[in-house]
Amino acid sequence: MEENGPMTSSILILGGTAEARSLADALTDCGTRVLSSLAGRVQNPVLPAGEVRVGGFGGVDGLARWLVKNRPAAVVDATHPFAANISANAVAACARTRVPLLRLERPGWSEHTLADTWRWVDDMEQVCQAMESLGTRPLITTGRQGLDHYGHWRERWALVRVVDPPENPPAAWEILCRRGPFDLDTERRLMREHDIDVLTTKDSGGSLTEPKLRAAHDLGVPVIIVRRPTPPEVDVVNTVDAATRWVLERA
Ligand code: NAP
Repeated sequence: MEENGPMTSSILILGGTAEARSLADALTDCGTRVLSSLAGRVQNPVLPAGEVRVGGFGGVDGLARWLVKNRPAAVVDATHPFAANISANAVAACARTRVPLLRLERPGWSEHTLADTWRWVDDMEQVCQAMESLGTRPLITTGRQGLDHYGHWRERWALVRVVDPPENPPAAWEILCRRGPFDLDTERRLMREHDIDVLTTKDSGGSLTEPKLRAAHDLGVPVIIVRRPTPPEVDVVNTVDAATRWVLERA
């Protein structure tokens, strides 16, 4: 892995997702040079094909400077739907430097067949409020970064599943460091073994983390789900194939 090294590739992928890795694979297979950018949040990230850089760019100005210096043919923002800051920065920096930008975003779960059975909320504060009336033994799967927002739930038992251990986890919490995907049987077993009676998650979308939603439904466990932030104003595709075609037209 390269630390902020010079770009010798023609496409910049803002990554950190399975889709970003699949896109890097697909483009590399087509002979296109790619540089994937990771924020550096995960200790042992699964690395994509091609070159990789790690760490922030330094806001919009930093990213714009980086684009001017390295001049990629295009940028694909394939970051997580909840990574709203880097997506907004990409829109502003690409507009300023006139580098074509595409957003690759997996479809959300708002059209899921079970979507009407879930409690949809706007932010972590509302997650905590909803938990009050729905359960006492939560499985928390909203990610490591939002854990500070659990307020007084930090003093009560919860099973918290994360990829990397959180900093200063509350003593009352049971932390499970696991990297998905998890299948339906695994999810059902986990919820049964821990007597889970409420699940918190966010609308990450896609199929890789979806079995927990089915498992919760099977076991009658209510689901609290955080809506996605406002999407960036940019052309969006939902599949790696569509993003690959878009890139091949430009690279
Ligand atoms: P964020 O809030 O949108 O970004 C915060 C800052 O981190 C950005 O301003 C940028 O720093 C840096 N950054 C984020 N993604 C980057 C990337 N791919 N390459 C270089 N710098 C990046 O993002 P986040 O929610 O912390 O997520 C960080 C990364 O984890 C993203 O790449 C995302 O795809 C991945 N991820 C996030 C979630 C989630 O739930 N948020 C889940 C799974 C994976 P500068 O301003 O200094 O450039």
